[in-house]
Amino acid sequence: MSFTNNSKDGDEIEEWLELNWDSTWCDPSIFNDLLGWLRRFYDSMKIKASKEMENRMIETKQQRGTIENSVNFFSREMKSQLLKHLDRPGWKHESIAYFLNRLGEEVAELCNAIESNQPREIVIKESADVANFTMMIADVYRQRKSRQIK
Ligand SMILES: [Mg+2]
Repeated sequence: MSFTNNSKDGDEIEEWLELNWDSTWCDPSIFNDLLGWLRRFYDSMKIKASKEMENRMIETKQQRGTIENSVNFFSREMKSQLLKHLDRPGWKHESIAYFLNRLGEEVAELCNAIESNQPREIVIKESADVANFTMMIADVYRQRKSRQIK
């Protein structure tokens, strides 16, 4: 019996070993046959794995690029909205209740912009307003150590 190049798993070799084990120890050519099959099987698995890994790396790179582009664009919008209010004292001492209340108002403004078919620039700005209030909540939690934030 000889091994084929295209075995998909180790079943063929296991079956062969069961049938031929008693005689294999004394015939080196059988080991060569076996080693050749194992080498081809290993190489085919290595090629398959490297192709899968390469595809995964390409997909990951594309996904990472998409995420970075979207987040960079949106963070610029968020900053642009915040910079319009440099005259205000900031959010460090505001309460979570205040942020939640303003967040609700901004969500309503965003819904209104979408429902009334406002230009996309307006929808993007309202989206940035919503994000800015959630950012403020996260920022307050990030900077305060106490669990009791009201
Ligand atoms: Mg707004």
